[in-house]
Amino acid sequence: MKSYETDSIRLQSERTQFREHSVPLYLTSSFVFENAEQGRALFADEIEGNIYSRFSNPNTSEFIRKMVELEECEDGFAFASGMAAVFSGMAALLQSGDHVLACRSLFGSTHHIFTRIFPKWGIDYTYVDASNPVEWETEIKPNTKMIYIETPSNPGLELIDLAWLGELKTKYNLVLNVDNCFATPYIQNPARFGADLVTHSATKYIDGQGRVLGGGVVGKEDLINEIRFFARQTVPSLSPFNAWLLSKSLETLAIRMEKHSQNAFELAKHFQKHDELEFVKYPFLETHPQYNLAKKQMKLGGGIVTFIVGGGYERAKRFIDSLEMLSVTANLGDTRTIVTHPASTTHSKLSDEEREAVSIYPGLIRVSVGLESLEDIVTDIEQALQKSK
Ligand SMILES: *Cc1c(COP(=O)(O)O)cnc(C)c1O
Repeated sequence: MKSYETDSIRLQSERTQFREHSVPLYLTSSFVFENAEQGRALFADEIEGNIYSRFSNPNTSEFIRKMVELEECEDGFAFASGMAAVFSGMAALLQSGDHVLACRSLFGSTHHIFTRIFPKWGIDYTYVDASNPVEWETEIKPNTKMIYIETPSNPGLELIDLAWLGELKTKYNLVLNVDNCFATPYIQNPARFGADLVTHSATKYIDGQGRVLGGGVVGKEDLINEIRFFARQTVPSLSPFNAWLLSKSLETLAIRMEKHSQNAFELAKHFQKHDELEFVKYPFLETHPQYNLAKKQMKLGGGIVTFIVGGGYERAKRFIDSLEMLSVTANLGDTRTIVTHPASTTHSKLSDEEREAVSIYPGLIRVSVGLESLEDIVTDIEQALQKSK
């Protein structure tokens, strides 16, 4: 590792005889063996090399090598989506009879894996309150194998103390698996606090431009070997084209996260005392209940701001419909600012109590702050707040 910025730009697949500066796209399903003996050695894992693009490809290898370096891990595997990564990181390591301790506030599809899919295979789970460290320890069972968390959570922006969980997982010999999609490797490196696996949806900030899906799991070599074996036979691996785009996107991740975080922080400060809002939440605002923890484990506050509009569910929908420039869509981590009303969209399948438990109030609005001029973003939100009164 040289430095974050240099590695994200300079780590590349080997040049071909054409001496290209930018890495080409390798659209090939398989690779030719030099001879029978080399084919044998490749399949026996005695030498490194590409066999078939479901296993590896110069583009996917370049992307995941960068992710491994940036997350300060040993090894990794690239997947076709964040969910393929989330699923494989758990399914490859867990078996019938195992138990997972997870934070209550999870990405919707991850929640469905725990509640609807794993129970069919005899894998059990317990959800714990993110901000209550004592609860994590009391809920550990003899068959607990993994701790699975997201910090900051979506969209509640609740944080979990990574250093504390790192100690806990060591004490009980558990696998700590952290979905680091919201923070990105530029802002937070869970492996520094003892995480064994770091899971990513590259669809969000890593692509950063709302174009492709992708994902990855990076972590300890022995665990990645098991995940790689599982993934090669089962779930979709990342396509070379998406890997090529994502590897290019990583070159600008640092500078984009600086600007996303700056715009988000300024936006949060601007609306902090607004008459039409009940609460504005951002990890680096001093009013965030876990401000000190945010400062301790995150380099920047990230690109997501949430606020609660006065007037609840119906007012929130009127606010969304009053926006003129900002995008109303369910994605996040784009150059374009995206505004979402979780209670009526991404988190509408949860019961009122479940939403309340993870700080998703009827009037909560999530803003994925983009890279447009801050003034234009503020102006649109301001006029929509006035119009929706
Ligand atoms: C989007 C997201 C995922 C799933 O990623 P996909 O690329 O959409 O499959 C997982 N975790 C978090 C926190 C996400 O935001």
